[in-house]
Order: sequence, then structure tokens, then C-alpha cells
Amino acid sequence: MSVHSKLYEGKAKILYTTDDPEVLLADFKDDATAFNAQKRGTILGKGQINCSISSQLFKQLEAHGIKTHFIDSPSPNQMRVRSVKILPLEVVVRNIAAGSLCQQTGLPVGKLLKQPLVEFYYKNDQLGDPLLTRDRLLLMELATPEQVDAITNLALQINQFLSGFWQQCGITLVDFKLEFGLDSQQQLLLADEISPDTCRLWNTAEADPNRRVMDKDRFRRDLGNVEDAYQEVLQRVLQAVESKN
Ligand code: UDP
Repeated sequence: MSVHSKLYEGKAKILYTTDDPEVLLADFKDDATAFNAQKRGTILGKGQINCSISSQLFKQLEAHGIKTHFIDSPSPNQMRVRSVKILPLEVVVRNIAAGSLCQQTGLPVGKLLKQPLVEFYYKNDQLGDPLLTRDRLLLMELATPEQVDAITNLALQINQFLSGFWQQCGITLVDFKLEFGLDSQQQLLLADEISPDTCRLWNTAEADPNRRVMDKDRFRRDLGNVEDAYQEVLQRVLQAVESKN
């Protein structure tokens, strides 16, 4: 497969075209940003770690019947993916209150939600990725009502599967962000990545609110040992996958 030109450079990945117009190459970077790119840094080895974790999770989800953009991973920090038109939505699923949910509602951090909460945010840095209502989303024609329903169902299915998977890793899935895209057949595919950059992951055996954090909050909140935490997550994912096979 020959790589053509750079199509797009985002905060964490570079996308390249390939000789197949239906296939793109995603190159995962070590760059880290937070708070709408106001905080910037590098997490050494993050590109390879996130690409490996994401690849494993997409493979597991595919085996579970969820359609994703994942094709394969030709090298540790590269993923071949189906070319999709990304819907400008950040789909957040929450099991436990944390982050912006606590800031905006006053719910205490760590409160177990009675049922998973699916939220839609407008993927727009200039506007600060605002929370959307269903009606606003439809008003803005960011997706059709059928797509919103399909995405909500998929997000809940993905949450159920991933919560169980992370549990096998001794990790509690607090919340996470998904992105979806449409392929050339208008088929809805799970896209982007699933990694410690996009999930809140707590070490289940650890009660201390700082020590339990195994995700990008270590970078956001300057908790230290960011690389170690990401590496630990990858090791646990690989162990869980191996024990399944
Ligand atoms: N998230 C993400 N990208 C974003 C915003 C959120 O991956 O641009 C993830 C975040 O890592 C967390 C979940 O989505 O796992 C919910 O994030 P929240 O709304 O609490 O926002 P935060 O307070 O983290 O900015």
C-alpha cells in the first residue's frame, strides 16, 4: 500500500490518503492537548499505545457485531481505516459522574448513574464543543432522526460491551467519547479511536481519587506518571485479549 498525501492533521492523529480511495492511514501522535487545546504537551509513546489499544478494542467490537472503520494496524502507531465522513458530533456515554457532568450539574464525582447517560456535543472547537439537545441537533441538521436513534442504540451497546471488557482488565469504565462516520454507502461506522485519551478509566482496586486515574485526566490535572498509566492500560488490554483467545 503506498501512502499518498496528508489529508488532515488533528490534535492526536494525522490522516493520509492511500492508493485505495476507500482507505485512509491514521498516524497516531504523541502530542496531547486538553481544555480545547489550551494545554499542550507530549506523552511519550502515546501514539503507539493508543493505536494498539484502539486496534484491539475495535477488533473486539467487530467480533461483537459492531461495525467500525478499523481495517488493520500495519505498524504500532498506524491504523488503516475505512474512509468515512465524520459526523460533527462527540457522543459521550457516562456510567459514573465525572468531568463536565459534575461541573454542570453539581453531581458528586464518582456517583454511579442508575442507567448509562448518552449525550451529544457539537464537535466545534470555536464554540467550545457545546452540549446539544436532540432538537438543536436536528435543527442544525447534524444528523437525521434515524441516525440519532441508531447512534444512541450503538453507543449503549458499545458501552455494555466495553464496560465488561474493561472490568476483565480490573478497570472501571467511567465515561468515554465516540465518533461516528458514514462510508460511501452511507453506512454508519464507529470511527476515531477508543483509548485513555477518550475514556475515563479508573483502576477498580484503587480507592484513592488521584491514584486510581489511568487516563488523560493524569495529564489534564498534572497528576504525574502519565506514560506509566497508559502503558499499564495497554498491558491489561493485551492480557485480557490473550485470555479470551
Ligand atoms: N472527551 C474526549 N474529547 C473531548 C471531550 C471529552 O475524548 O473533546 C471524553 C473525555 O475524555 C471523557 C468523556 O469524553 O472520557 C467525557 O468528557 P467530559 O464531558 O466530562 O469533558 P471534560 O470535563 O473531560 O472536558
